[in-house]
Amino acid sequence: MESGIVSEDYLTLQYEMMEAQQKIKVNIEKNIELEIIEEELNFEKPVLPQLKQVPIPLPLFHEALLQIAHVLIEQNTLIENKLIDTLKQLKKEELVNWIKSSIMFDTEFFQSFSVKNDLEAWVPHFVAEQALRPFLHVVSEKCTTIIHKFDVMGTCPCCGEPPRLGKVDEGENKLLTCPRCETDWNQKKNACVHCGEDREGMLIYLGMEEDDSILLEVCKTCRNYLKLVEKEKDKKKSAALIDLETLPLDFVAQEEGYGDSN
Ligand SMILES: [Zn+2]
Ligand SMILES: [Zn+2]
Repeated sequence: MESGIVSEDYLTLQYEMMEAQQKIKVNIEKNIELEIIEEELNFEKPVLPQLKQVPIPLPLFHEALLQIAHVLIEQNTLIENKLIDTLKQLKKEELVNWIKSSIMFDTEFFQSFSVKNDLEAWVPHFVAEQALRPFLHVVSEKCTTIIHKFDVMGTCPCCGEPPRLGKVDEGENKLLTCPRCETDWNQKKNACVHCGEDREGMLIYLGMEEDDSILLEVCKTCRNYLKLVEKEKDKKKSAALIDLETLPLDFVAQEEGYGDSN
């Protein structure tokens, strides 16, 4: 199977975003006080929406938004400086809504913000999501010791994102890894991560011509997919980076009619 092409500009933008997020994370780590109380959590739901207090201080999020917006403007000359002015003017209540809406992946909220402020439709949500990620990385690290207790069907047990990436070896499990919050968790290898389908022959594997170390696992029942990489090979890379490098597989999967939108 042949994979699609990903534009150089898109890749550069994403690499720059990852670098900016690293810097933001170093800065916020020291300033976030977050205590995860195991007894208060339902292990069948993702952690993030269950936290009583959102672990994202407004001034830190505001700063992260501006840092991300600057990187975006540097990389994409079509985005105007108006974006920065608009972001600078966000009031407390608006920032609360931005945080809530980015956690919940509320596309409509950001679309109406774009219309109201005459910004390109995709920009506010993109900036919000990219600014949110370093905070999610911190939450994920705080959950490392308890995350294996969670059994959440079809989403990341930390942030609630649908899974799309797994690492495999000879063992019986696959290690799922979340490009949004960098949480790793185990699941049975021979079951669909989206719907739990584990009957024989219902999961099929498609190989790529260019790289035999990556596979697409597709489920005949829910028609969703998962990208699989070799556990050993990509050990040191972040999930976000592997996700980016395997982006052509998403195109293949979607072309074949698999994915959330089907
Ligand atoms: Zn996640
Ligand atoms: Zn399935």
